[in-house]
Parts: sequence; C-alpha cells; structure tokens
Amino acid sequence: MIRRILHIDLDAFFVSVEQALAPELSGKPVVVGGRPDRRGVVASASYEARAFGIRAGMPLGEAYRLCPQAIFLQGTFSRYREVSSRLMTILADYSPHLEPAGLDEAYLDVTGCDVHGSPRQLALTVKERVKTELGLTASVGVAGCKIVAKVASDLGKPDGLVEVAPGQEKGFLAPLPVARLPGVGRKTEQALRAMGITTVGELAALTPEFVKSHFGTAGTAIYHYANGIDNREVKPPGETKSISRETTFAQDTSDHRLLQAILRYLCELVGAELRRHNKQTRSIMLKLRYADFETITRHLGSKEATDADDIIFAGATRLLDRALSGKGKAVRLLGVGVSNLVGGGKQLNLFDSTSQRSEHLDRAIDRIRRRYGFGSIQTGSALALRDVFAGEKGD
Ligand SMILES: [Mg+2]
Repeated sequence: MIRRILHIDLDAFFVSVEQALAPELSGKPVVVGGRPDRRGVVASASYEARAFGIRAGMPLGEAYRLCPQAIFLQGTFSRYREVSSRLMTILADYSPHLEPAGLDEAYLDVTGCDVHGSPRQLALTVKERVKTELGLTASVGVAGCKIVAKVASDLGKPDGLVEVAPGQEKGFLAPLPVARLPGVGRKTEQALRAMGITTVGELAALTPEFVKSHFGTAGTAIYHYANGIDNREVKPPGETKSISRETTFAQDTSDHRLLQAILRYLCELVGAELRRHNKQTRSIMLKLRYADFETITRHLGSKEATDADDIIFAGATRLLDRALSGKGKAVRLLGVGVSNLVGGGKQLNLFDSTSQRSEHLDRAIDRIRRRYGFGSIQTGSALALRDVFAGEKGD
C-alpha cells in the first residue's frame, strides 16, 4: 500500500485565534507576546505584521521598532489550548494514526483510508472543517513521509494545500533552499553555504559519509531527509513523562511576596495538568534564572506521590527559599516542574480529611477553569499576579 501522510498546520495560530474572536483585528498587523515595553518575545505575528519583518521569537521591542502601529496582545494560552484540542478532535475523525506535533500542527497517516476519498479530498475536507468550525485557516501538505509532508504544508502557507505525488519526494525537495528542510538551522545552513551548497538537491547529492563527518548523527538524518527518505511512523503521543510551566517577568524582581504568588500560580497550572492526565508526582523541580542569566534547577523528591496544588506548592516553596537565601540577585524567570510521574489508581487516605478536602477543592477548581478558562478563578496567594507576566511558556 502506498504510504500517504498529511501534515496539517494552522496559519499564524495565536494571532489567528485572536482575530477570529475579534474581527476588527483582521487585516491588521497583530502581535501576540505582550506589551512592547516589556521583556519577552513575539509568540505569533499576523501576516500583515510579518510584512514589516516581524517574526516569532523576535524581542517585542524590536517588533515595535519595525512596526509601532502594530496591535500588541498578551494572548490567552488557555484559549489556544482549547482550540488545539478542538483541532485534534476534528483530525481524529479521519484516522487513528494521529500525532500532534505542537498545539497547532499534527501528522495524520491516512494510508488506505479511502472511505473519506483521496488524501487530497481529505485534506480539503479538513481545511473546510477547520474554517467553518474553528474560523481558522490551515495549510496541509500531503506526501509519502512526514518530512516531505511538513515541507509541503510550509510551502503552501497560508491556506495552502500542496500534494507531492508518490515517488516525487526527492524531485520536489531538490530546488528548495536547504533552510526549508527541518533540522537545518542557521548554523548548518551557513556551514553548507561555505561548502557551496544552497539547495536541498545539492545536499542530497553529497555522500552520507561526508554529511555525517561534518554534522554528526544529525547529519545522517538531514542527508536522508534531503533525499526524501523518512521512515518515522506517525505515532500517537506516548505517556506524559513530565510537566512544567515557567514565566519570564516583565521586570527582574527580588520581591519575595511576588515570587511566592507566581510560584503558587505556576504550581496550580502544573497541578491542574497533572490531574488532567490523571497522574501524580514524586519529584518537584524549581527553575530560576537570575537577572545575570545564571540559571539553576533544584529538585525535591518525595516518597508519597501527589497531585495536590498545596503539596506541590509547599515543596516548591522550600526549594525557592533555599535557592534565594544568601543570594542578593534579582530573578528573571521562575519555573516549576514535576517528573517521576505515577499513574491513575489513587489511594484514598480516609483518615486524612484535610488532604481529601483540598483534593476535592482542586478538582472543583479544575472543572470551573476547564469551562471558563484558567483565569476565571485565582486562589488567594496567586491574586497579586495580574499584569506581571511578560510571557507564559507551556508544553
Ligand atoms: Mg502553525
């Protein structure tokens, strides 16, 4: 059977979600990431903003210099996550072989799925549903392997559909600049250019030994990709092994109360995610980046597994207090993570009514937040938080 894989990727995801909600934003340069006078980077830019040279990952201040009239938005991560899960629900209608590759992109192996028509028809159906049900545009690539499907969807952006006929993978890639190939970053691109290699076809014509000798094992993958060869399967996501949330402050701070409040907020995000996955943790991690960019992580193990916000917070607080004691440095980034996760089957301690009560409370809060968004409830110590975030990074 001929392998057929779709790569579906929403266009300018965060910004498009904002534009779908507030039509007055459409057709305008819009940037999601935060206010331009704050530290932080562009998370997503509308195509109108990109026309000014604004790119994801660029410092907000630089984006402002390029286009002062752009509309800068903080963004709402919970909303993006919700749209993401609606996208995945649509895609799951067409094949069980679905692999999310980010909030707004996924691979779908549709080999032999002809009940829904040809892969191209299926791609059109998906695009149509994304448009009517989510109000967003998707670009889709169709090819015989993941890497070529991904390059194809990228090439068609925005609102594209690019199909690479079976057997044509190598020829399709050949004329493209090497930077189009996932895995070829800026450094690799420069090194290749120094060798006189600028297209994927030229890269494909080298020997695998030569590419490996220059770029190590990553070179072997790049060589195969350049030749349109990618045997990776489309795999549904495995079990979650760790969960973490972190935030960069708008301004460096050594305000202990503020740090505590943010720590509480991050612990609640992590706890909610744990409970969503029906997991408990035995290891709590704290990450700190100081104003001078020194970055440390500290861990705390526990014999008892937990998914309770209070216990995670208590552990993280111990780590924070220890990390800050004696250090006079201001903090730039704070993060909390949990790992060493254990699953499901939960032991109820009938004698410990306090922990049971707080567990019920956590779950009730989760339900409300699932319905109305994470910001709908803020617990006491996290209340001081409004407007201190420059950006929130998750998953
Ligand atoms: Mg995208």
